[in-house]
Amino acid sequence: MEQRKIYLDNGATTVVYPEVIKEMQKYFSDVYGNASSLHYFGRQAKTALEDARSKVALLLNASPEEVFFTGCGTESDNIAISGILNAYGKKGHIITSSIEHHAVFYLCKHLEETGYEVTYLSVDKDGVVSVEDFKKAVRDDTLLVTIMHANNEIGSIQPIEAIADELKKINEKRRDKIYFHTDAVQTAGKLRLDVKKLGVDLLVLSAHKFNGPKGIGALYIKKGTNIFPIIFGGHHERGLRPGTENIPAAAGFAKAFEISNAKIEGHNKCVFALREKLKKSILDTIPEVVINGSSGSSVSNILNVSFNYIEGEALLLMLDMKGIAVSTGSACASGSSEPSHVLSALRIDPVSAQGAVRFSFGCYNTEEEVDYVLEILPEVIRNLRSMSPVWHQKSKKYFKKYIHKFIAKP
Ligand SMILES: *Cc1c(COP(=O)(O)O)cnc(C)c1O
Repeated sequence: MEQRKIYLDNGATTVVYPEVIKEMQKYFSDVYGNASSLHYFGRQAKTALEDARSKVALLLNASPEEVFFTGCGTESDNIAISGILNAYGKKGHIITSSIEHHAVFYLCKHLEETGYEVTYLSVDKDGVVSVEDFKKAVRDDTLLVTIMHANNEIGSIQPIEAIADELKKINEKRRDKIYFHTDAVQTAGKLRLDVKKLGVDLLVLSAHKFNGPKGIGALYIKKGTNIFPIIFGGHHERGLRPGTENIPAAAGFAKAFEISNAKIEGHNKCVFALREKLKKSILDTIPEVVINGSSGSSVSNILNVSFNYIEGEALLLMLDMKGIAVSTGSACASGSSEPSHVLSALRIDPVSAQGAVRFSFGCYNTEEEVDYVLEILPEVIRNLRSMSPVWHQKSKKYFKKYIHKFIAKP
């Protein structure tokens, strides 16, 4: 019998909706023109592209000229941040958070090496930046603020609207505008994204995080924003992202974004119930666990749990052998056992940081799958801990504490 497979890594990517695959197919076989061509085939492709752009714009409460398709979320982040800085044409100061996705975090590290100064705002125990800290960080030479909408490892939602409100007041008193960029890759399809309500100048999306195809991102840029390209070529995407447009992916992006937005409430209710069930049972049945981030101020599909005295990566591999796919928050991309910068920013103790894994739910997960995980997990944790010398010391202490209660007092 084939082993069952349970996918709990929807923060990494998601399955593509069948309707999206169906929508995309005709742009490989029938409507295959180059959207830049002037003939019928080209015009047909161009219409499909602009149709997709309008649909995405409508859902963001933006206008179509404000929406640009790119190769992915990472590329959108890079075009946005480097593009704004290039347009300034001078070095200066950037404000970001200490828990950004690598696409922003490593770009900021790189910018520091090239002469920019970066303030990394710290987060509280729930993984949220403080608006007061942000206000204090603003300097005369600040050029850009880049703070993600929700974090990909722990799910914490940042106070984007409140920061935008403060920034607006600050900008009124300045000659050079400080631009506000947010990476909304983890909130698209989970929260309603209204760029006017959020008050941002630039916002980033990626289709494969909301059941669309991989290899396409979008970038919202508010009208009037001064931005300069970082790659050069044709006039595609109004010169900001040159290269022949990926029509099937753009059509798939729009379709997936429409479906996800239509399903937001139902989706959140479903994944929230699954997450809370898993969380509660883990807390009830497994000792020495810590929940990283809070469920109060987070997207409803992410659960980051530390199992003390084990390696998150070992747990991931053991679960994989049982057909359960999760991801680890404890190891960085290079495969070292350094805790991730996100968990370090939470200042959780190193023992917990080592044993962190992320369960991230999607619209196709079921309660029955959670039950299966709960059947497997305690045993796997016990086995892994039985190999840990620290745990042995610890469990002896537990044993003593426990046994005292039952030894008959004279
Ligand atoms: C996945 C992710 C990205 C990167 O998107 P890609 O399309 O995979 O490049 C950026 N930011 C966040 C928060 C993400 O979760």
